[in-house]
Amino acid sequence: MTTVIQGCAVATMDGTGTEYADGHVVVEGARITAVGPGPAAPTVTGDADTVLDARGCLATPGLVNTHHHLYQWATRGLAQQDDLFGWLTTLYPVWEGLDEDVVGAAAAAGLGWLARTGCTSTTDHHYVYPRDGGDVLGATVAAAREVGLRFHPTRGSMDLGQSRGGLPPDSVVETTEAALAGTLRALDEHHDPSPGSMLRMGVAPCSPFSVTEDLMREAAALARERGVRLHTHLAETLDEDVYCRSHYGCSPTEYADGLGWLGDDVWLAHCVHVEGEGAKRLADSGTAVAHCPTSNARLGAGLAPVAALLEAGVAVGLGVDGAASNEESSLVTELHAAVMVARLRGGPAALTARDALALGTIGGARVLGREDEIGSLEPGKLADIALWRVDGLAHAGCEDPVAALVLGSRPPLARLLVGGATVVEDDVLLTTDEHALARRAAIATRALLARSGR
Ligand SMILES: [Zn+2]
Repeated sequence: MTTVIQGCAVATMDGTGTEYADGHVVVEGARITAVGPGPAAPTVTGDADTVLDARGCLATPGLVNTHHHLYQWATRGLAQQDDLFGWLTTLYPVWEGLDEDVVGAAAAAGLGWLARTGCTSTTDHHYVYPRDGGDVLGATVAAAREVGLRFHPTRGSMDLGQSRGGLPPDSVVETTEAALAGTLRALDEHHDPSPGSMLRMGVAPCSPFSVTEDLMREAAALARERGVRLHTHLAETLDEDVYCRSHYGCSPTEYADGLGWLGDDVWLAHCVHVEGEGAKRLADSGTAVAHCPTSNARLGAGLAPVAALLEAGVAVGLGVDGAASNEESSLVTELHAAVMVARLRGGPAALTARDALALGTIGGARVLGREDEIGSLEPGKLADIALWRVDGLAHAGCEDPVAALVLGSRPPLARLLVGGATVVEDDVLLTTDEHALARRAAIATRALLARSGR
């Protein structure tokens, strides 16, 4: 099966930032076989199954989302004026009612929306496992299969409840042993390390204020024994900084370092409050960062020092974070937000539109350890491609299509290919019924809120 996309602008996001004002991409099966200027060779188009006239569009690598909590799709619009700790304290008792039906419906809706807005690969960090909730992680895996996105779920966990000095109520945490056993089970059941994999697992205890040092250490040992990546939240708010200094006598970064949680197999969500030495330590250890500008703004957490992290040599990707702290939850919006947040902090030259597109594509691929397979449009890479329409009312007349995409409003999506398969065509999800996903999500939210008396 050969597909030729031509007549469009192409931003390859390869090592030298190659772009074509008028170019082509050739896809054979699951992989890209050619990218270049002008139309594809007549011999290629002559034999192709599909030749797509993509005039008026911009082709980019599919976006890579490096931090999400899909279940939170069911609890959007709550705790609207709270900071992180207040927001969590409001939401934990609601999340206590999660089960596999609610999580499956929320995840399918969240994944469907990611696909509709140009994302081809996404992580998920699921860390709430109510005792009678059933297989909530399996529900997210099934949802990713239904929607057709490349999925990097992480088996999250919490074992530090309020009675032991943590933030979450005891009702939503597991024992350390149950968390580790669940993690091992998830890796056995779902992890696929093969080339071109559609599902790779990671290990992800939640945060310094909801996880014991024992679980952090043992989860890292388990992940390293199995050769999978490690993920957690770190240095998101000043409250967390105060918590770490009072409970552990050091900054969040020093805390992670002491537990063996910095390294080239680790990516950390947020790192808003990491300065100077901390940034250098992240860079030296090869630790990657998932930058979530909208969530940080929604919770008033602060402006992450992205320009400084990049300058120090840290691999940075973008994340939408959970839908309860980013109701919009589309990664293309994070490209825009990343530029705005970086410039609010560091002035107009702090981050360019192309820098932001790099964070959302090849940067995210590096964060997930898959830069050899995804994140740029180059022969041999997986055919994960977003084709944005930039000739409509919102974008026509903006002659730089990358500026139109990143600085302008979210463009319509002409096509989304994941491993060469069409997932979205002209803003319509082809893999599943988007209206059915919306109905299921609404029913799930109502059921969950009713359980907590809302
Ligand atoms: Zn998060």
